[in-house]
Amino acid sequence: MKTDRDLARQLASIERRGYPAYKSLRGSYDMGGFTLSIDHVQGDPFAAPSQLSVVVPARTAGFPRPLFDAPHRKVALEDVLIRRFAQAASRVSFKVGGSGKSGLLATSRPGPEVLARSACEVSRDGLITLRFEAGLPAHGRTVDARACERMLLDLVPRCVDEALVCDDRALAVAQRAVDLADDQQAVRDELGRLGLVAFVADGSVLPRATGVSAKPLKGARPFASPASMRVTIDLPHRGPTSGMGIARGITLIVGGGYHGKSTLLRALQDGVYNHVAGDGRELVITDATAVKLRAEDGRPVHDADISLFIGDLPDGRDTHRFSTEDASGSTSQAAGVIEALEAGARALLVDEDTSATNFMVRDALMEAVVSGEHEPITPFVERVRDLWEQAGVSCVIVAGSSGAFFSVADAVIQMDRYEAHDITERVRRVCADLQAPQTPRAVGFALPQRERRVRIFGIKPQVRGGRRGSDARIKVRVRGLDEFSVGGGSVDVRLVEQLVDEEQTSALAQCVRCAAARGLLDGAHTAGDIVATLYAMIDERGWSAWSEHGDASCGLALPRPQELFAALNRWRATG
Ligand code: ADP
Ligand code: MG
Repeated sequence: MKTDRDLARQLASIERRGYPAYKSLRGSYDMGGFTLSIDHVQGDPFAAPSQLSVVVPARTAGFPRPLFDAPHRKVALEDVLIRRFAQAASRVSFKVGGSGKSGLLATSRPGPEVLARSACEVSRDGLITLRFEAGLPAHGRTVDARACERMLLDLVPRCVDEALVCDDRALAVAQRAVDLADDQQAVRDELGRLGLVAFVADGSVLPRATGVSAKPLKGARPFASPASMRVTIDLPHRGPTSGMGIARGITLIVGGGYHGKSTLLRALQDGVYNHVAGDGRELVITDATAVKLRAEDGRPVHDADISLFIGDLPDGRDTHRFSTEDASGSTSQAAGVIEALEAGARALLVDEDTSATNFMVRDALMEAVVSGEHEPITPFVERVRDLWEQAGVSCVIVAGSSGAFFSVADAVIQMDRYEAHDITERVRRVCADLQAPQTPRAVGFALPQRERRVRIFGIKPQVRGGRRGSDARIKVRVRGLDEFSVGGGSVDVRLVEQLVDEEQTSALAQCVRCAAARGLLDGAHTAGDIVATLYAMIDERGWSAWSEHGDASCGLALPRPQELFAALNRWRATG
């Protein structure tokens, strides 16, 4: 392998040459203690930065094996290493200057969720790969070799030393993160044993500082469980920890406006992910398959069997095979339920604030005015019991305005000034005293049996320079948490609420590109097959499996299979 001295020599030989001369640096260099790889070199100083990686052998890094000997620990350690490297890099970023992005050094900057990310992979033997980006320095458009030498031979090794080599401080930080991950995993494991959909630890801080902030709200009322719903889980590090256990079945969250209902549901939907210490939701843990459902009028729907909720449509369309480029509130939410079941959701989370009212409930007076034969919708409230009893799918529903859900609920939580109360018994009494009508259970509960195949049009490789074929030329664009496009189609993910990190959107885009390139989207495969194939690839080969040029770069975070299903289901051909 070439060495740091070769790198210095090569740099000297391209001093003041045109920027493309930097391409000659591509390759790996033994830096004494670690390997530096220059994987992808930017075309000019103003283009997207170059992709680099360092590989630190286990004996140099020195993190003890118990910090990465289980999947959840490995992800926690990787997350710590990314955050440390990002911090070290930010201290030296732009230390060397120049035109455009000259001098930039950065890697992923994770939010409060702890996600597997392409920025770091710790191998089974403890070898650390850390991927980052660098703006190779230039004066105008000419190589600044001296600045580059400082960057690659001085600043980068400093970041490696500070972030990736285990000293007492690093060990303490990593140990704390891994201990927390152990506790979180213990809660996840216990959910199944205790028959719970979710656990909300006492003392958790659920609200965020603002509507657009992920930080905890200062001065918030800490969560306290109602005694009747309290469970205590003996965590490996924190010890006995009490909190509210939401049992499988149908749970209702009611309460006056502004009393914290949506905040609780939001914490539950985010509880499919682990959060870092200090977030406030570290021990709010939800069944990892739970899907937040909402109305998404305007979304496309492809060949979904929504007949469970929607019968004959006015235009005579068959709802066993429902497709549209412009769903209504109710049809979008019906498709959402069916798609969530297909994606393996064991729990559904629904907030009336973001639901289509006519999908959720239907009152007697309306029934009397618009008779059944003119109304194609079987409301959710009439199906939710069967979803649980026949399909084993639990549901947590925020319903502050309609009493129709009382008679189908197993448990009712009232949020009162941000305090949770178990009012299940009181609701039973009130319903009995008032002789409230029971919500009927709709007849004919049957889940879709048909294997639905995914056919996606519009992903065309861009033919450049007369060459065709390889997936490398399928154009991918990502717009944060809003949208991504691949070839001639795109997916609007703004209302896919459990997509929480922009790097997950990027990963979804790469997934779809990858699936298209492998011919998985030709109509012969079910969504389940496609998703399983893509996750098997990443399990076997790591992040390079989803990457465009075979070399992984930083910038991808693992989405859940549920969000990949959601993306495939929302595809819109634009080209
Ligand atoms: P609801 O859905 O019941 O109308 P929200 O959940 O939207 O109410 O909460 C209303 C407001 O109260 C939000 O601004 C939220 O940040 C704040 N809030 C929620 N929970 C707490 C809490 N535990 N302590 C302080 N403020 C809270
Ligand atoms: Mg609300």
